[in-house]
Formats: sequence, C-alpha cells, structure tokens
Amino acid sequence: MEMTSVQAAVLREENGAFQIEELQLAAPRELEVLVRIVATGMCHTDAAVRSRDIGTPLPVVVGHEGAGVVVAVGSAVRKVAPGDHVVLTFNSCGQCAACLSGELAKCELSFPLNLSGARLDGSHALQCAHGEIHDQFFGQSAFATYALAQERNTVKVPHDVPLELLGPLGCGIMTGSGAVLNSLRVGPGQSLVVFGSGAVGLAAVMAARVAGATTIIAVDIVTSRLDLALELGATHVIDSHDGDLVARIMDITGNGADFTLDTTGRADVMQMAVAGLRIGGTCGILGVSPPGTSLAIDTNLFIGMSRQLRGILAGDSVPDVFIPQLIALYRQGRFPFDRLIRFYTLADINQALADSEAGIAIKPVVRVG
Ligand SMILES: [Zn+2]
Ligand SMILES: [Zn+2]
Repeated sequence: MEMTSVQAAVLREENGAFQIEELQLAAPRELEVLVRIVATGMCHTDAAVRSRDIGTPLPVVVGHEGAGVVVAVGSAVRKVAPGDHVVLTFNSCGQCAACLSGELAKCELSFPLNLSGARLDGSHALQCAHGEIHDQFFGQSAFATYALAQERNTVKVPHDVPLELLGPLGCGIMTGSGAVLNSLRVGPGQSLVVFGSGAVGLAAVMAARVAGATTIIAVDIVTSRLDLALELGATHVIDSHDGDLVARIMDITGNGADFTLDTTGRADVMQMAVAGLRIGGTCGILGVSPPGTSLAIDTNLFIGMSRQLRGILAGDSVPDVFIPQLIALYRQGRFPFDRLIRFYTLADINQALADSEAGIAIKPVVRVG
C-alpha cells in the first residue's frame, strides 16, 4: 500500500494558528490502523500543546478525539477490520504492570506513547514536503482527513450511532464520566460537587445522575452553563461569584459532600473542593494545571477528617469496555453528551479553538471528512 495524501491542521509555532496543509501518511505497520477521520473533538490538551504548557515538539498535528472509518489494517491487527466504525482514544503499551492490571491510564509508557510526537522508535507516519512533522499525538493526530492509529487505542463502535458525535468519548467525555463511574464510584443517594461546567464537568454531572446520586451540585461562573447543568442532571447550581462557595455547599449537603471533583486545574478551586467534603469524603482532581502550580492545604483536613485527595487520569477507563457502555447509555437517553457539541469545518478549526477558549463552545467537534 502506498502513502495517503491527507489534509491536516498543523501547529508550527507557540500560540500560532492551525494551518491546513497537505501531508503524506504512511501505510499501516503490523499493529497500526489507517482511519478515514469523520470528525474530531477539540480538548484542552490540544490547546496546551499550542500554548506550550505541554511540550510535544513542533511542528505537530494534534487532535486526540478522532472518530472515523477503518480503511486498512496492519497484518497483525485483529480487533478491527476495514469498514468498521471506530473511536480513537489514548494509547497504552499493553505490557507494563499497570496495563496488565487493566489500569491503562497509568501505563508506564503513557508519556512517550501519547505526547512525544513520534512512535516509540522515534519514527513518524506523517511527512511533509519540507521537513519533519511530529505526529502520533495520543497515538492518532486526528486533526487530519486520515490518521494512523494503533490497534490498542482504536475502539470499535456500533454503526447505528452518528459517528460524527462519538470522538469526544475518546477523551473529554470519558474523563468526566469515568471519574464518577470508574474512579470515585459514586453511588445511589450520594452527593457530588463538580467544579467547572465545561465538557468534562458536565459529563461528570450526567454520569452522577446515571449512578443515582441524589445531590449533584455544579459550580461555574457562566450562567448559561449552569442552566445546561440543571437540564443534564444537576440538582443544584452555584454561581462562583456568589460569595462563600464552601458555606453554600455545606448549606446544601448539611455536612459536606461525599465527593468533589475539580475540572479547572486551579489551586484555589481545589482547596475549596477539599474543604467542601464531609468527613471521609474524597476529592478527585482532573484539571490540568499550568506547570509549577502548587497546592497549600491544611493537612489536618486529611488526618483529622479522613478526607482523601486523588489525581484521576482518563477517568481510569478501559476504553474498549467503557466507550460502548457510554454509547449504550446515550442510546437510552440517559447520557445526552451530544448536547455539549458544536460542529465546525476543518477550515474553521481556529474558530473552534477561539470559541472553546471564550466559553462559547463547550465541546467543539471539527468535521474533518
Ligand atoms: Zn503500559
Ligand atoms: Zn483530551
């Protein structure tokens, strides 16, 4: 099989615009899958490469919430075949202790596999006429008309659900819902406070309703997002302009929440998330902070009150199992994540980024095909 010509959105400089360029994509190796991308969600991690908070080398093609149709597979691929609909997710090695224990988000090779901008052996699948392009971002680089994924980060999905909706299940939506359902294991009758009502936070709100939580509090500064949170399952909302947030949480819950989740990456918000817990409660942090962010917390909040604070990556998800579960919930109307999506064309990808950063679009999805 020969090289495939692709249109891709390339980031060439810090804080620069995406530039649409024609590149060449290699044929799949043994364990690789060539996917015609239909649509790709935009996530904060893409923006963090552009701003250099994440140091994946430039120039690079990012995009890590791809959804598309398999075109060709390498000789050793067994999971998918040409014609299959797939969602692309984070990559993992499959051989380290964490992977063998089913804890794929804790893979020892997570950094080089997802963020190094190359395959593990340093090679690239994408080529440009004048020099090197970094690729394999989350094992996909999906802001392109075709992507070369790995079998391990390719998830087969049913044909009867609109493929253009499904990309965000590979990262942002899985992260928020997985934190609630897989990591914290929020249960019936319990309480959860979600700080930040972006795509990750609203996915957590929807998942908490699925889990049977009876007090679900969404916190944000944008009124329209709080209104949406109420429609998606929040029982209470708090505008963070409204005075003492911890006192409001105590008013609503009586003695603090069973669980809190920070999706903002802000240290001051994480401090409130810990302070809003009941005795024995657990705070999960999902938001990526700027490098060097540190947290000052009274340690007696942990010892005296048996509280826990834990970082959660990718919602502790096993994507091949969890993404089909989320699709089943969506089909039943119990997980309407499509309400978060706003579509853009590949030519409008810079607008998608601007609208995401301005809070106009909760989950931009770029129709690539
Ligand atoms: Zn691993
Ligand atoms: Zn992401």
